[in-house]
Amino acid sequence: MPVNQMRVAMLSAHSCPVGKLGTKDTGGMSVYIRELACELARRGHFVDVYTRVHDPKDGQIYEFCQNARLIHLGAGEDEEIQKLAVYSYLPDFARNLESFRKNNSLEYDLIFSHYWLSGVAGTYLQPWWRVPHITMFHTLGAVKNAVKEEAYLSLGEDDPELRIETEKSLVQQCHHIIAPTEKEKEALVGHYGASSEKISVVPCGVNLEQFRVLDKAQARQHLGFGDDKIVLCVGRIDPLKGVDKLIRALPHLRDISGLKLVVIGGGEDSQAEIEQLRRLARNLGMEDAVAFLGLVKHEQLPHFYNAADVCVVPSYYESFGLVALESLACGTPVVATDVGNHRMVIRQGETGYVVRDNAPRGLADKIALLLARPSSDKKSALLIRASVSEFGWSRIAEAVIRDCRRVMANYLAPVS
Ligand code: UDP
Repeated sequence: MPVNQMRVAMLSAHSCPVGKLGTKDTGGMSVYIRELACELARRGHFVDVYTRVHDPKDGQIYEFCQNARLIHLGAGEDEEIQKLAVYSYLPDFARNLESFRKNNSLEYDLIFSHYWLSGVAGTYLQPWWRVPHITMFHTLGAVKNAVKEEAYLSLGEDDPELRIETEKSLVQQCHHIIAPTEKEKEALVGHYGASSEKISVVPCGVNLEQFRVLDKAQARQHLGFGDDKIVLCVGRIDPLKGVDKLIRALPHLRDISGLKLVVIGGGEDSQAEIEQLRRLARNLGMEDAVAFLGLVKHEQLPHFYNAADVCVVPSYYESFGLVALESLACGTPVVATDVGNHRMVIRQGETGYVVRDNAPRGLADKIALLLARPSSDKKSALLIRASVSEFGWSRIAEAVIRDCRRVMANYLAPVS
């Protein structure tokens, strides 16, 4: 093994990092794992990402970048199961991972778990391997519940006490936590009593080669968009994403001719929610102004961001929020709520607006302001893109690697 090479076991038990983005349980975290793993691999590190088998047709090993493999492990039924149901299979998941490791004579220097379920699997593996365990929560149950309580609305069921208690104990058990924003770090300290020395803040990134400025007219032509004013919304279909609030903003924008809201995201598993949103648009008399396109492949999204005039992220909560970053990297301004990374990546009045909350009137006002700007040219798009150039995955990976090395250097394996 080269002296500086790290051998990392990444855990993504419930959600497959190469799964369909935009379905209920597959979004930003999968992008994060894939991009980070490939960046680590490119630097000569060895990364295995372990996930649960979710389809009997899955091959066991899939090399998604040179030196980075995805490994499917049996744990429970070989099919998609409810996220929470994965919890009871985590001991099997950890045991099967250990058998795979032994049978293949693998050794790891580090466990890097993603989301609380994988964090639990990490705590099973850690005493067997005696290596440091770094975790990233991606969302926090206690924050989600607080947001739902504050909104006084039904934003889906509360996250169970099991999750809250598990996250609380994970912050004590793991050796280090990576939080994507200062806000998330404060939440870890405030809600779970995490020690702030254990937490580093490293933002998420964007693939700057993939998400780049294209010719707007060509992007529109490619998608058959014509001359409409396009407002874009991209994400999993989840009440916390606040898409209903954006639809409610449309009547305030009635005077803008040719305005179209394009909503991307939501697979087979989200049809009921999409129908509900469609009904809302119909009741507001705005049905013709909204198009639900369902899932769009990540590789195709740059065309949509480039074709759009404004991208809106009306979420009640984001741990980070990749969509805003992707849109800005494509040179399209963003209106977004004051959650996740939005205040960090959007320059108020220049590259978009951060609004206090997702009240429809406030969203509409800022969308109208951006649509009233003289028609966007390539130069202004490039300026918007330049504002997020520091968020390329390469830099983010370097920061994560620094953290990993520091944690490994400070780790004292227990004496047996
Ligand atoms: N996404 C996609 N196709 C879709 C919907 C979403 O590729 O149909 C991607 C989107 O581009 C982004 C990710 O899914 O990279 C969503 O990440 P974000 O951080 O915005 O939200 P999360 O899913 O983590 O709540």
